[in-house]
Amino acid sequence: MKLYLDPGHGGADPGATGNGLTEKDITLDIALKIRTILMNNYENIEVLMSRSGDITKDLTERTNEANSWGADFYISIHINAFNGTAQGYEDYIHNSLSDNSVTAKYRDLIHAEVIKLNQLIDRGKKKADFHVLRETAMPAFLSENGFIDHPHDAALMKQDSWRQNVAQAHANGIAKVFGLNAKSEVPGTIYKVIAGSFKLRTNADDRVTFLRSKSIEAFIVTTTISGETWYRVQAGAFSSRANAEARLQEVHNVGITDAFIMVEPPVSSTPPPQSVPTGYSILGPTYLSPEQMNRFAKSVNPNAPELGGYYLTLGEYYGIRGDVAFSQALHETNYFRFTGIVKPEQNNFAGIGATGPSNSGASFTTPEEGVLAHIQHLYAYATTQPLLDKYPLVDPRFHFVKRGSASTWTALNGKWAVPGTTYGQSILSIYEKMINSTKQTLDIILNEVKNNQ
Ligand SMILES: [Zn+2]
Repeated sequence: MKLYLDPGHGGADPGATGNGLTEKDITLDIALKIRTILMNNYENIEVLMSRSGDITKDLTERTNEANSWGADFYISIHINAFNGTAQGYEDYIHNSLSDNSVTAKYRDLIHAEVIKLNQLIDRGKKKADFHVLRETAMPAFLSENGFIDHPHDAALMKQDSWRQNVAQAHANGIAKVFGLNAKSEVPGTIYKVIAGSFKLRTNADDRVTFLRSKSIEAFIVTTTISGETWYRVQAGAFSSRANAEARLQEVHNVGITDAFIMVEPPVSSTPPPQSVPTGYSILGPTYLSPEQMNRFAKSVNPNAPELGGYYLTLGEYYGIRGDVAFSQALHETNYFRFTGIVKPEQNNFAGIGATGPSNSGASFTTPEEGVLAHIQHLYAYATTQPLLDKYPLVDPRFHFVKRGSASTWTALNGKWAVPGTTYGQSILSIYEKMINSTKQTLDIILNEVKNNQ
């Protein structure tokens, strides 16, 4: 399916203005978001945009381009204006079309989806003799997404989340109209945003410093390509491509144009490190799968709760090694047998705030919240960056940590645990055991496969 996507106005033509806003900026942002959503989430769709930047392009150029490309659908995004008192959403098809036309049916579906999410008054389905509706050789649709000169509508337009919702709603409508199939993402696939790859460590360090100055958390991953060492700057790892695309956009926006997304197969097929070096960092990727973590915990304590999934996803979100954090939880809770002062119902897997028999520390409402607090506490130690905002702060001790005071597991000695002179070493030793048990399991499976050939 070929979609021609037309953000109204641009360049020398600002469109409507009001409340400090300009129509051409809002239509472009919404249209770019529509494209991202469609490209990331649906199969068999091509999108051509009339503009993807702030350029001047007249209406004839736009409709000629859509016609010669052979678009299946033309969608034009606009923002309305009147006299400051009108508000709401309306959309248009050409006034020569009946309510039973194909275009009208497309419009009905999109209108219904948009109204669900846009928080605007529904001014109805309208018809007009607009150029882009008249001069297009394919079904064409134009939406007017609120009034820029009305305080209620303009306040919404200022919110990125509103523009995202409006884009999502249009995408939902288009997907319905054309029966688009959702892209299947392989579970466990990781999308890493690589913001540069360097032969010189100092160049990679400079890049990390720059990204952090722009509030984008990043760290260096060393990799070997054809026998040569490269320093990759990783600015986030995500389980959904859409989230990785959003981060990639942020990285592009601060001027790094060579950034890209690296797709990694599910972690269970990623080989873990051969050995764990001393000075192993707290920030970094998670190698073991949730199944591998859970299996190892249960090999010692068959009643262990299955927390591997939380450690993977939350660790990944904050850039913390989730599998080593899991090892820390095994150490703190004695493999979830809770033989110390913290009780199982506290969901406190990291001993946060626990100082002795009279103070068993913090409690969390769910196991997931307990893991979140654990990962946030590690984040406090490992970096001076502000807390990422997807989840609320649940670690009650976050602000008591001297930020960035421990970048490695062994640096937690005497900090997380007092005196704890071998605290980090104990965590890494459990981690090595977990890796080795995983290798043994893989060897057993490999042998079984061989024996059955
Ligand atoms: Zn307009």
